[in-house]
Amino acid sequence: MPMRAIRQFSLGDMRISVIDDGSFSMGVGMFGANVGKAMVGDLLESYGLGRDKAEMPLQVMLVETEGVRVLIDTGMGDTTFHGNSADNGRLVKSLEVLGLTPSDIDIVLLTHGHPDHVGGLTVEGERVFPASTHFLPDVEFKFWTQSPDRAPGGLKQMIEECRRHLLPISHGLRSYSDGDEIAPGVKTVAAPGHTHGHYAVMLESKGERMLHLVDTAVHYLAGLEHPEWTVGADIDKPTAVATRKRLLGQAVDEQLLVAGYHFPFPGVGRIMRLGEGYRYVPVPLV
Ligand SMILES: [Zn+2]
Repeated sequence: MPMRAIRQFSLGDMRISVIDDGSFSMGVGMFGANVGKAMVGDLLESYGLGRDKAEMPLQVMLVETEGVRVLIDTGMGDTTFHGNSADNGRLVKSLEVLGLTPSDIDIVLLTHGHPDHVGGLTVEGERVFPASTHFLPDVEFKFWTQSPDRAPGGLKQMIEECRRHLLPISHGLRSYSDGDEIAPGVKTVAAPGHTHGHYAVMLESKGERMLHLVDTAVHYLAGLEHPEWTVGADIDKPTAVATRKRLLGQAVDEQLLVAGYHFPFPGVGRIMRLGEGYRYVPVPLV
């Protein structure tokens, strides 16, 4: 079983820990629904990657800010996807490595309702983070807990999985909207399209800023070089494209550090312009 990694660094006075929580794989056609898998395959192959399947790592972020511990998303937990790594969903064990128990987490900030982000919330119907206040936009909670029998095309199974993890946290669940400061220096950034209520997160301390793109760009090559390529899993594809271009443009213009939930570990870097698109450049972290 592979060792899972944790990377810690500072952003001003914030302590940030990026926790590798495993990976799954997807057919590359997912990352260019409007251009076809051959074009996506050509791009990935030009970087020495396989042209058929793309590995999708996932990274949970722990932010410690002014004595408040905020977890941004929770990984897949016991949810299984195609090509799951053997040790997905090790979040609680990773926290142990950091000397923390789930009760030490004050806030769980959920960026959207997808199972690879909310799967770590519960085990057998019980909350994993009993002392936490959970945040998720109302629109997301309603969408991903709707009756599976009335689910929009193709989403029945995913909604069933989301209900399993989201219904147990409904009591006391708090919604948020654009620009809300969830904890000191942790602000929500509306980033709709991937899902209706998908959010990015801006972290800021002592003048240092990092924009966590979450799933604004899902694949670090396809989504950046071709932000106009639609992602199969994006619920509102035109809005997702517009959001992707807007936030990537902002990252360049404001020279922001960025993070991506599915970028290669630890998934933190900078964005440059590349023709009509963008390039993600990982940076060393201290
Ligand atoms: Zn995701």
